[in-house]
Amino acid sequence: MKGHLLKMITELKAPVKYTLNLDDHQIKMNDQIGKNITIHHTGNIHCINCGRKTKKSFFQGYCYPCYISLPQTDPSVIHPEKNQAHLGISRDMKWAKTHDLIDHFVYLALSGGLKVGVTRHTQVPTRWIDQGARSAVKLACTPHRNLAGQVEVALKKHLNDKTNWRAMLTNKTEGEPDLAEARTKALELLPDDLKQYAEKDDTITKIQYPVETYPLKVKSVNLDKDPDFTGKLVGIRGQYLIFDEGKVMNIRKYNGYEVELTIEPK
Ligand SMILES: [Zn+2]
Repeated sequence: MKGHLLKMITELKAPVKYTLNLDDHQIKMNDQIGKNITIHHTGNIHCINCGRKTKKSFFQGYCYPCYISLPQTDPSVIHPEKNQAHLGISRDMKWAKTHDLIDHFVYLALSGGLKVGVTRHTQVPTRWIDQGARSAVKLACTPHRNLAGQVEVALKKHLNDKTNWRAMLTNKTEGEPDLAEARTKALELLPDDLKQYAEKDDTITKIQYPVETYPLKVKSVNLDKDPDFTGKLVGIRGQYLIFDEGKVMNIRKYNGYEVELTIEPK
């Protein structure tokens, strides 16, 4: 099969159901666990927005012109507190109205440690699955992205905001706190002017991943350095394919990469 990689589509089931769309091919990834997979990168990368051929991928799949102009690649995607859509300032106000000026959740997740994060309300639970969280809970709900960013900034002084992907992929859970307790503590840490955004829904979402065996140590597959890879798929978590010998591949990193994929029957 030949096509372009794109982040896997997920469905919250026990375990999560993963589908990889490789152009016209739809691959049910859970069914491929236990099989040998060969990936050959043809050297072509096409921008996931405009389709233009690009030597290098920016911001996980974009060409340079798209990277510097699209709202999807604005710095406020990573730093929500930098979002200015509520002041009428955006790379694209039409996009901002449906993506920034809508309810956002600040959440806590356990994914290789406790972390705080921000997501559009439409991205729950997709965002949590993409990060490989084993459980997550909403903390605050704000009417636009900038405010959610402010809540996150206030909490970052006390909490991590990055996913420790190595700990996530080796399923290290030592030292992870109780999520309900962490939520109560985090709400107490909210500054007075942001307390009004505390979220009532305290449901803890638990997420299971289709992983046969977790590796003890992980090593990233690098298609830029080595365009050929073969390994036995042993599991999937977040947007990572986990292969035998601890090799892991972040599919999102290779958005827009043209590959030939061969899956051997068991
Ligand atoms: Zn482009």
